[in-house]
Amino acid sequence: MKLGSSKIKKIVQTLKERYPVVKTQLVHETAFQLLIATIMSAQCTDNQVNKVSKVLFEQYPDPDTLSSATLNSLKKIIYSTGFYNNKAKNIKACALAVLKDYNGIVPEDIDKLVKLPGVGRKTANVVLSAAFGHQTIVVDTHVLRISKRLGLTDKKDPVKVEFELMEIIPKTSWKDISLQFIYFGREICDARKPLCNDCPLLNVCALKGKK
Ligand code: SF4
Repeated sequence: MKLGSSKIKKIVQTLKERYPVVKTQLVHETAFQLLIATIMSAQCTDNQVNKVSKVLFEQYPDPDTLSSATLNSLKKIIYSTGFYNNKAKNIKACALAVLKDYNGIVPEDIDKLVKLPGVGRKTANVVLSAAFGHQTIVVDTHVLRISKRLGLTDKKDPVKVEFELMEIIPKTSWKDISLQFIYFGREICDARKPLCNDCPLLNVCALKGKK
């Protein structure tokens, strides 16, 4: 997809001005804790994950302790994040893999990260950008929806959207634009009721308030 550079500039500049300082809402002290919190955040709000991870990381703060936890103990703690059976298995297996394969240190490499249990490109990109400062684009539900509405992509698959966005958005903005889209999605471009009349991107939006 080819897009006019003025449209991209307008989107990047507008979001940068509106949200000059952005950071992940998932509370964490280490890259490992962010990795585990992000796995738990699938189909769950950041607020709920933060409540759960406070309890989880008090007892199991690192790969050593978390990989030794019983599945039952993990399921009880993370129950309220949903899909707790799978998530408990994944976070325990992920902790064990980080411990055994990487000496307890989360790898700073997307190819290694996506091989860890429960980790897909979205989770890997969250860790790379928020914990290590890499320029990556995280395609979550907000980024997917807003990219389509703005006309930046016509794809549905998050990985294809990630690669399309990387082609049209300057690399220096990759890390922030994902979070800016998330802030913008919560404030203006809501999934059900987008506030198109108040939207600073109305003029460049493909949907132009038709929803
Ligand atoms: Fe979203 Fe409406 Fe703004 Fe388009 S005009 S980006 S649909 S809020």
